[in-house]
Amino acid sequence: MAYDVEFTPEVEALTAPAWAKVKDQVTPLEWRVHAPLIAQINRVKREKNAVILAHNYMTPEIFHGVGDYVGDSLGLAREAARSDAKIIVQAGVHFMAETSKVLCPDKTVLIPDLRAGCSLASSITGADVRLIKQRYPGLPVVTYVNTTADVKAETDICCTSANAVQVVEWAAKEWGVDKVILIPDEYLARNVAAQTDIKIVAWKGSCEVHVRFTVDDIAEMRVAYPGAEILAHPECPEEVLNAADFAGSTAAMTDYVEKRRPKQVVLITECSMASNIAGDVPGVQFIGPCNMCPHMKRITLRNILDALVKEQFEVTIDPAIADRARLAVQRMIDLPPPAIPARYDLVKARGHHVDIELI
Ligand code: SF4
Repeated sequence: MAYDVEFTPEVEALTAPAWAKVKDQVTPLEWRVHAPLIAQINRVKREKNAVILAHNYMTPEIFHGVGDYVGDSLGLAREAARSDAKIIVQAGVHFMAETSKVLCPDKTVLIPDLRAGCSLASSITGADVRLIKQRYPGLPVVTYVNTTADVKAETDICCTSANAVQVVEWAAKEWGVDKVILIPDEYLARNVAAQTDIKIVAWKGSCEVHVRFTVDDIAEMRVAYPGAEILAHPECPEEVLNAADFAGSTAAMTDYVEKRRPKQVVLITECSMASNIAGDVPGVQFIGPCNMCPHMKRITLRNILDALVKEQFEVTIDPAIADRARLAVQRMIDLPPPAIPARYDLVKARGHHVDIELI
């Protein structure tokens, strides 16, 4: 489909606020290509009463140019549920669009590229969870939000990387057991097990982006940038988190950088995260390494505009599955905010035994 691609003075003026945020990440030449698409997307959004949910791992021109709500997957879905928009365009991966549909059953949810998947979400199916429940009868099932609606529907309660410890401890208490099933991320499960006395049954799924980080990456950073603070995502291997200064979800990392304003910071996560925060915290120097998520990068300004104009590709979920998945998400939302700070150095000080059974 052909769109206006001219970088007119009007387009320049309309996109000036976004340019101010991204000008250190995007070249002027690239902006001449992005800006006309941004102006059109924002116009069509208004005409169709649509909102765009942009995940922290979107490229800066999407994140700052067209995102109405930006953040982590659950935060985005919750914002969408509060908005009165008719259409939601998910600038993220497929399981995130499903979560939006679960929480907003009456809205049309679109994903710009149906191939935007996730190694973690595709590591497990609803049928797998049913088998796990047969093998461990009576144990509560806690599922990370990075899963399909099918998997959430088989779940007692969902968790995020920020509240996983709290949810696991809550579930153990509610069910009166000392063991909890926490799926599908092996590394998140290991990191939770290091912070609680509850025994964990885990699944061997992983995020292909975070699993690639190593202790050597951190050691090299420490030598090259001795003053830099190193923040790592809980989907990273345990030894990487042990070597970092702080572990937290993308939302927790953002909060950390905004509040503490370190002079130099290393974000051990997906590459776009640093570019997007950089626009909001001038004066903080972001240093590599980072790994790119190929699934997130399938989303572009051009296919977002296509999605809006053609109202494609709609995400649908069997209402019976959506209803059960919603219960698991809502149960988590209804818990109070996590009482345990997401500072991994507190955990290291405890030298906690990791009690985990991998299936
Ligand atoms: S970064 Fe990892 S968890 Fe997130 S979408 Fe990509 S593969 Fe999935």
